[in-house]
Amino acid sequence: MSSSILVVGSVAFDSVRTPFGEAEDVLGGSATYFSVSASFFSNVRVVAVVGSDFSDDHASIFKRHNIDTSGLVRADGRTFRWKGEYGFDLNEAHTLDTQLNVFESFRPDLPDSYRDAEYVFLGNIDPELQAEVLDQVRQPRVVACDTMNFWIDGKLDALRKTLRRVDILVINDGETRMLGGEANLVQAANKIRAMGPRVLIVKRGEYGVLMFGEESVFAAPAFPLEEVFDPTGAGDSFAGGFMGHLAASESMDDATFRRAIVYGSVMASFNVEEFSLKGLSKLTKTDIEGRFRQFQKLTHFDAL
Ligand code: AMP
Repeated sequence: MSSSILVVGSVAFDSVRTPFGEAEDVLGGSATYFSVSASFFSNVRVVAVVGSDFSDDHASIFKRHNIDTSGLVRADGRTFRWKGEYGFDLNEAHTLDTQLNVFESFRPDLPDSYRDAEYVFLGNIDPELQAEVLDQVRQPRVVACDTMNFWIDGKLDALRKTLRRVDILVINDGETRMLGGEANLVQAANKIRAMGPRVLIVKRGEYGVLMFGEESVFAAPAFPLEEVFDPTGAGDSFAGGFMGHLAASESMDDATFRRAIVYGSVMASFNVEEFSLKGLSKLTKTDIEGRFRQFQKLTHFDAL
C-alpha cells in the first residue's frame, strides 16, 4: 500500500440518542472512526489512550483492519466518554456530557516507527495534544486537522497555535462560523484560511461538503440515503476516506482533492447507515467503488 497515515484522536465509549434509537457505551471516538475508514485506502497508525475498561475485544476492530496500535496506550482509569443526542433532522450533535478521563493526563510519546509519517491527521482532541504529536513527527508532508466547539470555546489560543501548522482543516458549518467569527460561510472561510490552513473543508451534514481550496471551491452533496440511523462519526469517517485517498494517490492536485472529497463522502454515507462502527466495519472495496460511481452519476451534468 501507499504512504501511511498517522492519526491522533479520541478512542471513546459513546452514548448516543437519536429519534430512531439509542446505544450506550458503544465504541466510538474520532481516532476510531477515522482509522477504520482510512484503513480501506492506506496503512494507518493510531495514537490515543484508553483506560482499564477497554478490553481486547474492543481493540479487535483495529486488528481486523490492520491498523497499527503501537501508539495506543492503556492507562489506569476510565476511557474517554461522550454522550450526545440528535434532533429529528440529525444534522447537529448536541453534547450532553464529555468525560475526558484518561485523556486528562495523557502525554503522547510516539513510537519511533511513527515519526517518519508523511500524512498526519490531528483528530478532534485537545489542541495542545495535537501540537505535541506534531512536534514528534519529523517531516510531515500533509497535516490535516479537525476540532469542535468544545475546544473553540475552551482552548482557543492553543487551537490557533496548532492551526498555524495545519494544511487542511476539516470542520462543520457551525464551527466554521464560530471560529471565523462571521455568519457568512465564505467570509468565515477566508478568515480561517488566514489563520494557517490553506484548505478549509466545511462539513454540512445532509447538505454535503464545501471545500475552499487553493485553486478552486468545490461542492459535493451528501449521498441521498433512504435511511440515516446515527450520524456519530460521519465527520471522522469523511476525514478517513479523504486522507486515505490523498495518501494512496500521493498527489496533491485539485483533481485529487476533489476525488478525495467524494471518497470521504462515500465513507460518511456508509457510516451513518448504522450505529457505532457497524456501517464501516463490514465494507468491502467493491462497496466503496460502487458508491463512488453512484456519486459520479448523482453530480454529473453536461456542458451547454
Ligand atoms: P463526528 O465524526 O464529528 O461525529 O465525531 C464523533 C466522535 O467524536 C464521537 O465518537 C465522540 O466520541 C468524539 N468526541 C466528541 N466530543 C469530543 C471531544 N471533546 N474530544 C474528542 N473527541 C470527542
